Amino acid sequence: MTFPKIVQTKLISAGRKKRYTQGSVNSVIQRASSLVFDSVKAKKEAAKNRTEGALYYGRRGTLTHFSLQDAMCELEGGVGCYLYPCGAAAVTNAILAFVKSGDHVLLSEGAYEPTHAFCDCMLKDLDIKTSYFPVLIGRNITKYIKPNTKVLFLEAPSSITMEVHDIPSIVKAARKINPQIVIMIDNTWSAGVLFKALEYDIDISIQAGTKYLVGHSDAMIGTAVANQRCWEQLRERSYLMGQMCDADTAYITARGLRTLAVRLMQHQKSSLKIAKWLAKHPKIDTVNHPALSSCKGYQFFRRDFLGHSGLFSFILTVRLSNSELANFLDQFKLFSMAYSWGGFESLILAHQPEEIAQIRPISGVNFTGTLIRVHIGLEDVDDLIADLAAGLDRIGLNKNAPEILQSLV
Ligand SMILES: *Cc1c(COP(=O)(O)O)cnc(C)c1O
Repeated sequence: MTFPKIVQTKLISAGRKKRYTQGSVNSVIQRASSLVFDSVKAKKEAAKNRTEGALYYGRRGTLTHFSLQDAMCELEGGVGCYLYPCGAAAVTNAILAFVKSGDHVLLSEGAYEPTHAFCDCMLKDLDIKTSYFPVLIGRNITKYIKPNTKVLFLEAPSSITMEVHDIPSIVKAARKINPQIVIMIDNTWSAGVLFKALEYDIDISIQAGTKYLVGHSDAMIGTAVANQRCWEQLRERSYLMGQMCDADTAYITARGLRTLAVRLMQHQKSSLKIAKWLAKHPKIDTVNHPALSSCKGYQFFRRDFLGHSGLFSFILTVRLSNSELANFLDQFKLFSMAYSWGGFESLILAHQPEEIAQIRPISGVNFTGTLIRVHIGLEDVDDLIADLAAGLDRIGLNKNAPEILQSLV
């Protein structure tokens, strides 16, 4: 897959209005709580235009925030973009902005686990029920929608297992039953530019900007880009909750946008090469990479996405014991273990099938081998393959494994 050219060019110019850059290439870093007014008249004007880009009070943002917000709206095709201190805050505040006691939230069972946890814990205490739908439900989503369903929350691909929804079918069927339902997507994997959520009649596209937007594993931010219908409510309620991010983080995120296209192109190229290499490896059962036909929902990915990023998973033919797992994971030279992804560096994590089953409340899991999730970074791809090959060679060669000891007797 190639990278959409128009996105590549937009990523360079987005949000760089003269008002924000003031003669430099990047936006200024305007750190401020107080924004001072020259006159009573100026104060009145600022108050009147406080949601239209006037400098009013730090919590409403400064030129640095406005620059990033403009850029995100241009890239994702929204009317407004709210900035949060991290991705989790973007997810939870976007949901909270649209629900009240007695409402129902319908959440993909493949969504990021902390999103499940927020709904099952905090929304429950607010008398807001959450139920889950299978990732590949398509137009049968209608069976899960209740008269009080207020928010429908998607995530594609699914966290860890990487299945891709038939998004247009889900959205169309849901809107037919209730046009007012607020549809959100956690769009982090596509970096918001490889899946144009708002063009698919989704109301709010949410990202952990922490991942690809920042791209260097050194800052946290959340973004939520909304359409006309939902922007004002999202903005005002997030503001009431005191959500914002600091100017330095907004700046570093905007800077990340400038290299996002070239980074994603490399993540794409390397991850696909590695996924194809893994698919042929005898110790691997399935590769869950949306650009390979072995991934569930591959046909929807091909149809709806403009490209893929560098995060995917694969399932080993065997379930590794704890000591085998440590032996496999502890000795990588280039892959580090970390919960995050989207940075320039390669990462690896393992999950046992029963751990995944716990976060798939309806469907459980249909595999028995250990699942490995990798983020393919910007290192030389052949170096990464060599590191993975050495890791896979370690499987079954653990000196402490009883079968090896036996063969030595
Ligand atoms: C990391 C992540 C989040 C949360 O982002 P933070 O910045 O860590 O709070 C939300 N959704 C997805 C898909 C993520 O990967």
